[in-house]
Amino acid sequence: MKNTLPGAPYFHYGDTGLMVEGLALSALAQEHGTPLYVYSKASMVGALAAYQAGFAGRKAQICYAMKANSSLGVLQVFARAGCGFDIVSGGELARVRAAGGDMAKVIFSGVGKTRDEMRDALAAGIGCFNVESEAEIDVLNAVAVAMGLRAPISIRVNPNVDPKTHPYISTGLKGNKFGIAHERTLATYQHAATLPGLRIVGIDCHIGSQITEEAPYLDALDRMLDLVQAIEAAGIRLEHIDFGGGLGIQYQNEAPPAADALWAKLLQKIDARGLGEHTLMIEPGRSLVGNAGVCLTEVLYLKPGEQKNFCIVDAAMNDLPRPAMYQAYHAIVPLEPTKTADEAAVYDVVGPVCESGDWIGRDRALMVQPGERLAVMSAGAYCMSMASNYNTRGRAAEILVDGDRAIVIRQREAISDLFRGEQLAD
Ligand SMILES: *Cc1c(COP(=O)(O)O)cnc(C)c1O
Repeated sequence: MKNTLPGAPYFHYGDTGLMVEGLALSALAQEHGTPLYVYSKASMVGALAAYQAGFAGRKAQICYAMKANSSLGVLQVFARAGCGFDIVSGGELARVRAAGGDMAKVIFSGVGKTRDEMRDALAAGIGCFNVESEAEIDVLNAVAVAMGLRAPISIRVNPNVDPKTHPYISTGLKGNKFGIAHERTLATYQHAATLPGLRIVGIDCHIGSQITEEAPYLDALDRMLDLVQAIEAAGIRLEHIDFGGGLGIQYQNEAPPAADALWAKLLQKIDARGLGEHTLMIEPGRSLVGNAGVCLTEVLYLKPGEQKNFCIVDAAMNDLPRPAMYQAYHAIVPLEPTKTADEAAVYDVVGPVCESGDWIGRDRALMVQPGERLAVMSAGAYCMSMASNYNTRGRAAEILVDGDRAIVIRQREAISDLFRGEQLAD
């Protein structure tokens, strides 16, 4: 079988079909049922190592952007590897705590932090609030003063560069809701410096997600470093420069830059301005976990049609929301290379949910029969963390594979879980 596994080096075909590390995926599907998420620990640790290699010999902190995959078993892998976490809610803060993460390495991003979330994070002693508006600065100051504390802050700059990605996952353009406009940044720092409840520790930006070209990064960094110099010239010292996340992965034919090669170029720019003494921080999400995971699903029915053939599987948009949300592509491959010599047919691979938007792949050539299983590739990021219970479907189980060990890190949701907290009106 030719290489049908874009970007996923920890998955390969062996004697027993598709394998992850030392285990056959069909055996995991047999034992745990489908739909089933399976992650390779070595893949996550390997992706992290590429960043760590890029930062060798530097003061640097990698904060895993946990919204990409916030399952406790995944967070624990990163916590043990020394990662911090980029969180976007009080719920994510609680997950970091439950996974044994270091609060001092937590940074809190997001445009809509509530006062309660600010209080929790201040009490926990997180490392930095990435502040996203002038209004938020004053609220955070008031909350910190009331607690007798000083909140460590960084201002998220909107550098107004086009990351050339899907509009829904571009965040660093003027029309996006994120960050403080480049032109307003210096004045905002000067205002923040006068507030007794704040301590300025850094600057940050994050321009988008699934970025596959280096040019937007290089442009954004130039703009950010201009600001660092202007802010420091105004007498405000920054301890860290946080350059966000967003590095893309290969889902199909994309060829994103490697993390270490990209960082070699970015570090050159930082050093050229004499700013290399700052602690560097980054917030990668997708690039650490995306290609570490697959979603296994069973073919329920084949439904040939005049215009389209449908391959109906037991995973759906509630499990794998990216195609419905962003027309995203996931490779879909058989777990067992087929034994029949039948011609492959072209199918739309769809789930059971009652929405025409419930598709997982379009126009895919597959040789499949009902009862056979498929792997939806590159499903480690923004899949389970976006999963829902739509159509009263329980969320899938998750397995973390470490060599030849398979650890259940999330049990399949039971029907009773889906009713929890509900009651009849009378
Ligand atoms: C989502 C997000 C990230 C991570 O983005 P990826 O594309 O998954 O690397 C980093 N920083 C912030 C502020 C984010 O919102």
